[in-house]
Amino acid sequence: MVVKTFRRKRRMQYRNRSGVIYWHGAPGKNQIALTFDDGPGDPHTLKILDILNEHKVKATFFMVGRNVKNFPEIARRVAEEGHTIGNHTYNHRGQTLATPSMAIVEIKQTEDVIKEATSISPKFFRPPYGNANRWALRQAEKLGYIICLWSINAGDGLGGNWRRIEKKVLSESEDGVIILMHDKGRFSTQHSQKSTALALPRIISSLKESGYRLVTLTELLEL
Ligand SMILES: [Zn+2]
Repeated sequence: MVVKTFRRKRRMQYRNRSGVIYWHGAPGKNQIALTFDDGPGDPHTLKILDILNEHKVKATFFMVGRNVKNFPEIARRVAEEGHTIGNHTYNHRGQTLATPSMAIVEIKQTEDVIKEATSISPKFFRPPYGNANRWALRQAEKLGYIICLWSINAGDGLGGNWRRIEKKVLSESEDGVIILMHDKGRFSTQHSQKSTALALPRIISSLKESGYRLVTLTELLEL
């Protein structure tokens, strides 16, 4: 089962045998959620936190357990500044071939390091690459998680041109969308999210000018 295909459906959530998967908030409130995956990392998570502070905006960070282990103080800062923290597995391995027990370990280990660093129990889960088999998703739900994907992929996962990122996000934005961005590169320490940090202030300003309020997933999904 490939979760990715669910996003094409123009619905806020998709119910299948594994339960409910959210990819969009309810329209009507002019709210949009910014989400940042794969961190925490230094320096880009810090840079993004500064930008969010400057614009008085709250967002959601889907953290990778091993990165929380390496940068617990950055995870703590994310929590202290009022952002929502989600679980994005420990090793960022694809979950399409994961056995139920592997899925549980990935989720639980991440939950434990997040709790240790921030005293927060994450309630949202996003599988790496937006893919997971139904057994893995069922384990996440059994552990009490709400599974959440995204409506717009900023396309910044591999860096890229910030103007292209800005254009893509703004042209696809509408009431209730969940935007996927990244606060840490996946593949090497050399790779940076510099483009994300360059595009972000412009994205926030434009969305605000269009009358949108930028909120956490907790607020957008009223969960
Ligand atoms: Zn990821």
